[in-house]
Amino acid sequence: MRCPFCGHEDTQVKDSRPTEDGAAIRRRRVCSSCGQRFTTVERVQLRELWVIKSDGRRAPFEREKLARSIRIALRKRPVDEERVERIVSGLVRKLEASGDTEVPTARLGELALDALRTVDAVGFVRFASVYRDFREAEDFTAILRSLLPPDGDDLPAAEGGAAGPRRTKAP
Ligand SMILES: [Zn+2]
Repeated sequence: MRCPFCGHEDTQVKDSRPTEDGAAIRRRRVCSSCGQRFTTVERVQLRELWVIKSDGRRAPFEREKLARSIRIALRKRPVDEERVERIVSGLVRKLEASGDTEVPTARLGELALDALRTVDAVGFVRFASVYRDFREAEDFTAILRSLLPPDGDDLPAAEGGAAGPRRTKAP
């Protein structure tokens, strides 16, 4: 692998370890010319994926681009980088398992939203606000509502009422 700092062709692997629950291998490399260290990540690529943009243009799917948009949504949120990588790997697996080699950006956005929904509510709303390009406040209300528990489950009631706190049934 060529050194990204000086362009030297010969870099050595110093350390390899599995990451993302074994879905990837992370290698620490050192350049034998300038001595700079950098990391490479190796992943299985089942097939080439293409993204179809809203104007119909086709571009190679870039994992890093997807990861970046998710990282931005989760900025300063209590979600570490390893978790972000796992989210992205999960999305890529889903895309690969779908059997399609082309995925519209809209579908990509919906998949990312689905993943963020269970990870971090703030990240989810941020991603949705950017991705869906909201124009009306109602859109935000709908999103925030979708964050509440399903099937009309009550919000936690204030305790100490006359009848005592209501308990929800165990599953
Ligand atoms: Zn170098």
